[in-house]
Amino acid sequence: MYHHVSPKPGLVTCSPENFRAQMQWLAKNGWRTLSTTGFTEALASGRVPQKSVLVTFDDGYLDNWVYAHPVLQEFGQRATIFLITGWIGDGAPRPYSGQPGTPDIPTHKQAMAAAADGKLDTAFLRWSEVEAMRAAGTFDFHSHTHTHARWDRQIVAQAERDAALAEDLAVSRETLAARLGEASPHLCWPQGYFDSNYQRVARDAGFTHLYTTEHGVVRADVDLARIPRLVAKDKPAAWFGRRMGIYGRPLLSALYLGLKSGKKGH
Ligand SMILES: [Zn+2]
Repeated sequence: MYHHVSPKPGLVTCSPENFRAQMQWLAKNGWRTLSTTGFTEALASGRVPQKSVLVTFDDGYLDNWVYAHPVLQEFGQRATIFLITGWIGDGAPRPYSGQPGTPDIPTHKQAMAAAADGKLDTAFLRWSEVEAMRAAGTFDFHSHTHTHARWDRQIVAQAERDAALAEDLAVSRETLAARLGEASPHLCWPQGYFDSNYQRVARDAGFTHLYTTEHGVVRADVDLARIPRLVAKDKPAAWFGRRMGIYGRPLLSALYLGLKSGKKGH
């Protein structure tokens, strides 16, 4: 799980150098980056090939186009972006890293302030960039809701809260279908929040694969309503390689995750 790839350090931000080193590590060590379709098919068949990884990004930041897209292109890899569909803008594609006139990238904090100010275009993707990445085969795109709202914090009454979430999901799904020509069954929860009502509303809206921020490795028997992810930190290839080495081996990773969750409890 990534959010930003940017030279401006900040929360949930990986530097372009470290992101490139991590993707290069995957390429050199024989790991295959899956499309969501490939991921879905592997899980449905019950045969998840060794050294398979689904690289995900949340929110849909401009820096994903400027800094992550060229790296994925370089190594022939692919990833997934969960878009806040109401925050994606119009206009021509902006230059990406390696091209003249690369746009200035805001920090995570500045991106949040820009969103609150309605200045989304300075920090988030445009549909033209989404289309270009789709055409290049570097990214596929799915839902991170339309508004990124935390309805559980805004509405107390359960029926009203469910209705607000249902509307948010329906608009997001329709927007993606209208823009990309196909409805997606993949949904990632804003800030990782979900409960059993959220899961039910999502299922009713047509989402079968629900991605969380819960820490864990996906196995063939994963609960599709509760797909865990691992945080990719802003660290060099040596760190990344060690983690992939551990998580790529079922017994070791079970031990390691057990150890980590044990630690968290104290
Ligand atoms: Zn988010």
